[in-house]
Amino acid sequence: MPGSLARDGREHMVRWYCERARPWLADKVADFAARMEVAPAGVRVQDLGYRWGSCGKGDLLYFHWKSILLPAPIAEYIVVHELAHLHEPHHTPEFWRRVERVLPQYERCKDWLKTRGRSRRTLTCQMDDAAYRCKSLATSLETRQSPSLALGRF
Ligand SMILES: [Zn+2]
Repeated sequence: MPGSLARDGREHMVRWYCERARPWLADKVADFAARMEVAPAGVRVQDLGYRWGSCGKGDLLYFHWKSILLPAPIAEYIVVHELAHLHEPHHTPEFWRRVERVLPQYERCKDWLKTRGRSRRTLTCQMDDAAYRCKSLATSLETRQSPSLALGRF
């Protein structure tokens, strides 16, 4: 396949995922923002390179489009993590207490990202997206559609 065709295909795929990830993430952000008493300015979904999420200037939240390929509880953890940064810019004990208040099982999500990742770094904001490889798209999309997925299953 000529290189340009492959590139077009990838761009199309990324756009497709961004379009689908955005409403889901925006919904989760609205839900958790109310519970965490924060007011993010907006949600952007794009290619964030090695990060799953980031909290930008003006309280904008950014999420990697690949978040939609993660199991729902993991994607929710990323949302909660970034929202907690609106209170605490750094990973202080207070920051983790805020995360824990909303997601008591957050350590498992953190571990999940860490063990599924190639990177030895602590995968929080500096998550290595290239490290996450879903077994197959079909599997992850299927997983994605069952919000009742128990944490114990992964
Ligand atoms: Zn962080």
